[in-house]
Amino acid sequence: MKTNKPIKKSIAHQYLRIMVLFSAVLMIGFISLIVYNGKIQADFEEENEDLEREMAAVNQLEKTYTSIVLNMRGYFAFGDESIRDKAFAKQEEVLESIQMLKEEADLKEDNVFISQVENFHRYYFDVLVPQQIKVFQARNGQWEDSPGLNQYNSEKIETFLSSILAYHQSKDLQIQQNFIDYSSKQELLQWAMIAFVSLMLLLLITIIRAKVKSIGQPLQELALASEEISAGREVDIPKYDGREDEVSLLSRSFEKMIKSIQENEQNLLAQNEELMAQQDELQMQKEELEHAVDIIQTNEANLKRRNELMHSLSNSLNKQIVLEGVVENICHIMNADRGIIALMDSTNAYAAFGLADKEEVQFMRNLHSGMIDRLIEKKRAYSIKRNCTPLEKGYHTEELYCYDLYIPVLSSTGQVAAVMMFSRYANPYSKDEIKEYEGTCKQISISLEKIRVYEDSEFERLLTRDILNTIHEGVQLVDENGVITRVNSKMQGLYQEVKAAELVNVPLEQWSHKVGTSIADGEAFLEFMQAVTAGKTTPEERHVYHINGPIKQVIQVYVEELYRGNKRVGTLLVHRDITKAYEVDQMKSEFVSTVSHELRTPLSSVLGFTELMLNKKLKPERQQKYLQTIYQEAKRLTALINDFLDVQRMESGKQAYEKKYVDMIPIIKRRLDTDRVNHPDHSFILNQSTENTTVLGDEDKITQVLNNLFSNAVKYSPDGGEVKVTVFENENNVCIDVKDQGLGIPEDALENIFTKFYRVDNSDRRKIGGTGLGLSIVSEIMKAHEGSVSVTSELKRGSTFTLSFPLILSKNTEMEKESENVSLEPVTNRVDVNVIVIEDDRNLASLLQTELEDNGFQVLQYTNGEDAMHAIEQYKPDTIVLDIMLDETSMNGWEILEKVKTNPDLKDIPIIVSSALEEKEKGFSLGATEYLVKPYPPHKLSSTILQTLLKKEKSGQILVPSSAE
Ligand code: ADP
Repeated sequence: MKTNKPIKKSIAHQYLRIMVLFSAVLMIGFISLIVYNGKIQADFEEENEDLEREMAAVNQLEKTYTSIVLNMRGYFAFGDESIRDKAFAKQEEVLESIQMLKEEADLKEDNVFISQVENFHRYYFDVLVPQQIKVFQARNGQWEDSPGLNQYNSEKIETFLSSILAYHQSKDLQIQQNFIDYSSKQELLQWAMIAFVSLMLLLLITIIRAKVKSIGQPLQELALASEEISAGREVDIPKYDGREDEVSLLSRSFEKMIKSIQENEQNLLAQNEELMAQQDELQMQKEELEHAVDIIQTNEANLKRRNELMHSLSNSLNKQIVLEGVVENICHIMNADRGIIALMDSTNAYAAFGLADKEEVQFMRNLHSGMIDRLIEKKRAYSIKRNCTPLEKGYHTEELYCYDLYIPVLSSTGQVAAVMMFSRYANPYSKDEIKEYEGTCKQISISLEKIRVYEDSEFERLLTRDILNTIHEGVQLVDENGVITRVNSKMQGLYQEVKAAELVNVPLEQWSHKVGTSIADGEAFLEFMQAVTAGKTTPEERHVYHINGPIKQVIQVYVEELYRGNKRVGTLLVHRDITKAYEVDQMKSEFVSTVSHELRTPLSSVLGFTELMLNKKLKPERQQKYLQTIYQEAKRLTALINDFLDVQRMESGKQAYEKKYVDMIPIIKRRLDTDRVNHPDHSFILNQSTENTTVLGDEDKITQVLNNLFSNAVKYSPDGGEVKVTVFENENNVCIDVKDQGLGIPEDALENIFTKFYRVDNSDRRKIGGTGLGLSIVSEIMKAHEGSVSVTSELKRGSTFTLSFPLILSKNTEMEKESENVSLEPVTNRVDVNVIVIEDDRNLASLLQTELEDNGFQVLQYTNGEDAMHAIEQYKPDTIVLDIMLDETSMNGWEILEKVKTNPDLKDIPIIVSSALEEKEKGFSLGATEYLVKPYPPHKLSSTILQTLLKKEKSGQILVPSSAE
């Protein structure tokens, strides 16, 4: 915008000019005052210095004259010329002082004083002093004669000195006056300064007032005018034509501005109307856009739900979670109120949304009927419209419809893999919608397929894992890089002290180094594992290693290579725990060596002596002696074989125990009596501290236990000593201590001595024969009697074996008496007692026949089962002696036993089984009266038959033949 008139006298310039002027006056004023002040001070100092110098000259003059006068008086008093000369010498100083005074003299009185001094000086030195000296010298140094002259001189001098003093005082007064003048000038100057400053301030205020008036007022008027204009009122703009500053410019611009505003207002009104029209149009567009946004948002929400659906389909492999996600998300997409999805396979898996439990159950129950049938048949989705049930209607009273949509989920083979049902109130399903949902079902189907495949593979994986974990071998899978990728639980069990993390995902070599430390033959093991890593092993190769640990294990490992197609994918290492088999092997070899030694020794004696007897004619005594030896060795062999068989029977659980109440004291006594005779080097003692010595047990087996302990006690004290047997009660047990003073047992062997075939192997007992079975039999028998055996021992001092049986307080005395009352004396004249002996071993049969006939029984002997059966039926004997294992072509013993016992005519005939088979239980259960296990001494058969007959007689079944009575 152009201004009409340029600003000639701008306010800023005006102000600047005034301020410059004002500052200049202020500066000049201040400078003048300062200069004047300087001048006053300089004048004062100059005047003062002049006066000070005059004072100094006067002072010096006074001092010099005083000294001259004093020196001259000294000369006149003492006549000392040196003093006089000193006074003369001071003349110079006086002249100097006079000169100084002359230089400073500026007043009349100064000049008067100077001439006064000069006059006196001349008088003194030119007149007075020469005169006085002359007189003094004339009087030869006597001064007292002319007091008048003296007086006169002194007065002159005094007058002169006083005039100096007066002058001095006048100078003092001048100095003071000078200072007073200076002070009054200073005061005057201060007042002048105050007046100047006040004047300047007044001037400033006046200027400011004038300017404020000339600028502030027009501005105020203009402001008021602008306020009126902004309020929309008409107003005259004040004009300042006489002025050439900004105010007049402002006034003119203001006027122009109002004019242009008024012009623009018209334009704006027109534009406004146009804009209003545009706004209406925009409003319409906005509404259209909002509608479009609504649609986009709905689509977005749908897309989001679809996304969620896809997410739920792909997010989990858990079938139930996926089904729940599917049904919930589809309900949201469809705006359905409730829905269900159910799989059509055997799992019956389903998930529902918004359904009550019983509704879900009902749907599942009718899964293969009703509405679903159509779905399965047509494989197309369909919807039905129905009236809402009262429950669905809730508080609505008007008619309300519900739309049910049934959709099949088809598998890749076109089968219905799952069905879905959704219900929506009031809103029917459009065809497009249904089509769209069918499309979604394809995704669901793929997902379900994926889950099925996953479940199958997971099942396979778990099955493989379980199979691997179930097998008894430790399995390691090593990949082609030599890293262990899998181990089964048995493998972990083998190396419990190694952390699970160090068993898997580590190189085989690293693992073998780690476990190699706990392996007995570590180096060989490492070599083998290195060969495995290098692929140098063959499938037939086996490596056996021993793990040292709390439990020692023997492991056999073999290697199989894994191929997929032609590609080698890894190596399988199978670690088999062969500890048991290894122990059995060990035991077998121990057994073989024991058997070969223990059997051969007695057999060689038997053979040797028999050969001798057969080939040589011997004297009857020698024959008797040889026969005795043969008998002893045969007994030893029998005992040995019995031991082997016992152990085998006991271990297989086939050992039968015929338990009765048995008093142990008679058994112990009998055995000790025999031992006393057979072992004269030993002494045998029995201590009994309890009367409760009866136990419930198998007498034969208990006897066997005691015999084993007694024979060990004797056998392992080769130097003789005491064998002490103590019977005592301890808590609820009857205990028997068998204590010897023999070799004792090393401590480390104690835990093994009850193991079969175990023998303490050291030099002092190598000569002592044995099989290592005795104590294991003892231990087994004690276990079967709910008792125990324990040992304490001290090497070279002896051992104590302790048997412990459960305590029985009430004896079955009757039974005992019965057994005691039986006479074991051979009974003669038993011709009326018929015995049928059924035995297929002819030698044994004739031995038994001889034995029985020797004891007076009538004996019929059969080797064939059928023949024997006929004889029994025909003769109905008093007793049958029955072997079990008979000729294979005929009936065996069990069949005969069964047949006799089931025949009412025969069932009362007592049957005594005589067999090498230890199956007493079976025998007794089939009805056998007694059971003798071969080999037994033949006389035992006679006594058993007799006991049986006596028992039968007592029970009134048969009569003992009269001749016997
Ligand atoms: P065997 O005597 O036939 O060797 P056992 O089972 O009876 O077999 O004994 C096992 C081992 O226990 C014997 O080899 C022997 O070293 C030791 N033993 C058994 N009883 C005694 C004992 N009373 N004194 C010292 N050692 C004994």
